[in-house]
Amino acid sequence: MKHSRLNIVLLVLLVLILLPALFYTGYEFSRLSEAEENLSMVYEQQLDAVLFSVNQYAWDVTGTWFAEIQGILRQTDSDRKRHEALARFVQDRSAIRTISLHDSTGRIHESSESAGQDFLLRLSDSLAARRDLLTRLLRYRTELYLKIEPLLIPLDTARPRLSLIAVVADGSDQGLFGAVSLESREFVTSVIEAKLSDVAGDDLLLVCRDRRSGEVLFSTGPMEKDRALTQTRRLWLFPEYEVGIRLKGRTVEEIARERFTRNGILFVIVDILLIVGVILVYRTFRREIELAALKSDFVSNVSHELKTPLALIRMFAETLEMGRVRDEKQRQEYYSIIVQETERLTRLINNILTFSRIEAGRKKYHFRPTDLNRIVEDVMAMYSFHLEHKGFTARTEYAPALPPVMADEEAVAEALINLIDNAMKYSEEEKRVTVRTAMIGNTICIEVEDAGIGIAIDQQNRIFEKFYRVSDGLVHTAKGSGLGLSLVRHIMDAHGGTVDVHSESGSGSLFRLAFPAEQSVQQQ
Ligand code: ADP
Repeated sequence: MKHSRLNIVLLVLLVLILLPALFYTGYEFSRLSEAEENLSMVYEQQLDAVLFSVNQYAWDVTGTWFAEIQGILRQTDSDRKRHEALARFVQDRSAIRTISLHDSTGRIHESSESAGQDFLLRLSDSLAARRDLLTRLLRYRTELYLKIEPLLIPLDTARPRLSLIAVVADGSDQGLFGAVSLESREFVTSVIEAKLSDVAGDDLLLVCRDRRSGEVLFSTGPMEKDRALTQTRRLWLFPEYEVGIRLKGRTVEEIARERFTRNGILFVIVDILLIVGVILVYRTFRREIELAALKSDFVSNVSHELKTPLALIRMFAETLEMGRVRDEKQRQEYYSIIVQETERLTRLINNILTFSRIEAGRKKYHFRPTDLNRIVEDVMAMYSFHLEHKGFTARTEYAPALPPVMADEEAVAEALINLIDNAMKYSEEEKRVTVRTAMIGNTICIEVEDAGIGIAIDQQNRIFEKFYRVSDGLVHTAKGSGLGLSLVRHIMDAHGGTVDVHSESGSGSLFRLAFPAEQSVQQQ
């Protein structure tokens, strides 16, 4: 019942604290990835702009060529002069192989000397087959725009040659088309490379490569094999080639991914901290509830503990007072019961007083070099009658020549009395108690061993907590306050020592008080 209520509390805590945190984490994650997407979109647009400028540059260069050809056509008045001017034009530009002029049916009007007949025929065939392209160019021309179109002319021997076609003059009927046929590879390496190096700067890597074979014509920096290009675009005028780009250092995706991972780890840590926090709060809460229950048990236990000896004392005192007991032996027995019960009361009250002093932080210890054998001897002298009276066989074993220990004699005796008292309380048929001193490793010990009911393993840590009592088996009938062992532990802590228990359910217990031996050496 109590546990199910606690579980509900835990559930409510989880719902109130963790759910919002987890929702928030989820929300932040989705926002993060959105932000990363936006970032990489902006970045891609920038890369696009760079590639656009490279293409634009190629366009500008070839546009200037055609403007110059138009100028030659306009300025030269004789066929010869024009022929010579065109030949010079071809000579001066290493990428250009030939220049030829065609009408709208593809027929050749004129060509530079360098042109092979075979190539020119193929060129005019290709143009004749692409009337649509020529019509489109004319349409641009009427809008006063110099449009250039690439046309691949198939060759038997090598790769197709590229001709750039544009309207260069208004012919009598339709128009005159200029075809600048060139070695595109040459153009790319001589013209575009310079521009790419210029645009790349320190941060970008720009690469120009053959689209079909993947062969890299040049790059503005060393290419790392395992790193792909972020963006590639065809060169508008040179469809066989493409230009690719990426950041030289880390790519924006890598930076974004790293940020995403870092933030993710941060969120997970915060969530884990919250979960740990909830668990800690829950555990404190549970402990407080348990402590409150133990305290209320304590009050009823102590009242009972006080009442029983008082009732006995009163009963025997009254009997004696009335003078009804004639038998001397019986009278002595009554007296000894009264003494025993008074001792029991004293012990209980002493325990409560020590406990309240400890709780208030007022417990004082007076450490002196002390012989543990002597303490055991004194306590046993006091207790042996009591033990025997209760039917116990008491044994003592002393380690010879124990070095003195810095200890508060009274406190150690109090601890020992508590252990002997427990040994008696928690024994059934086998009534044996052994108290011994020993030197174990670096420690000087007092052990109290009984053959009583023992303590289950899972209870062994808890019995040293204040108010805690094992709540099954014989313990129900043996009364106690639950303070004894917590006092023992406190006393041992104050001595820089330890108390531990070796026990099994049903087969007796051994409690050991261990005092550090170094202390005794130091203090001497
Ligand atoms: P109290 O004896 O007043 O209940 P203690 O703090 O002395 O309180 O002991 C705590 C619990 O440890 C006891 O309730 C008992 O269950 C268990 N215990 C202590 N000593 C022994 C022992 N010698 N044998 C078995 N159980 C013991």
